[in-house]
Amino acid sequence: METGKQEILPIIEKTGAYARGHYLMRNGKHTDALLECSHLTENVETAEKLCDALTELCRDCHANLVLGTASGGLIFGYGVAKRLGLPFQYGERRNEGMQLRRGFRIPEGARVLLVEDIVSTGATVQQMMHIAELFGAEVVEVVTVVDRTRGRLHLRVPMKSLIQVEANVYAPTRCPLCQKGIPMSAFAMDVRRNGRENEQA
Ligand SMILES: [Zn+2]
Repeated sequence: METGKQEILPIIEKTGAYARGHYLMRNGKHTDALLECSHLTENVETAEKLCDALTELCRDCHANLVLGTASGGLIFGYGVAKRLGLPFQYGERRNEGMQLRRGFRIPEGARVLLVEDIVSTGATVQQMMHIAELFGAEVVEVVTVVDRTRGRLHLRVPMKSLIQVEANVYAPTRCPLCQKGIPMSAFAMDVRRNGRENEQA
């Protein structure tokens, strides 16, 4: 099933992965947008729809390998690779940097499609691009479910996303949401207690 880009936001909001409000981040700062991408794949049918939509974004990129990033890009990377009929490998974070482990080797000259769930600073994407280059391959395109770079990330290759999200981050003492007396959302607290790494942290 194909899902147009304009249909994506309500689908993502329904998962609980994205909401606007007043949230406490792991680093103690406050934000007006909750982003917890683990919930994107909580419902299998929703995950499949998002994989369909991601695949439509990159169908013409002529890649011959899909590279994901653990853990957020694993399911989407696999889903896109399955739809494009391409092999799938993934990188993992170790000691603050991304690595290709488990005997994965990107073939020299490979055209790599990089798949992410969320791109915030772009550091992970750039590290994965560097890894591909070390193998003599090149990343030809990046696709992500959520782009929260606000257009500040400039890669040498196209980056496409299903939604773009602007999340403002505030020091607790200067938070306009606190100043307006808007209560902190309990939901984010629950996510933080029970959840995995939050990209905002
Ligand atoms: Zn606040």
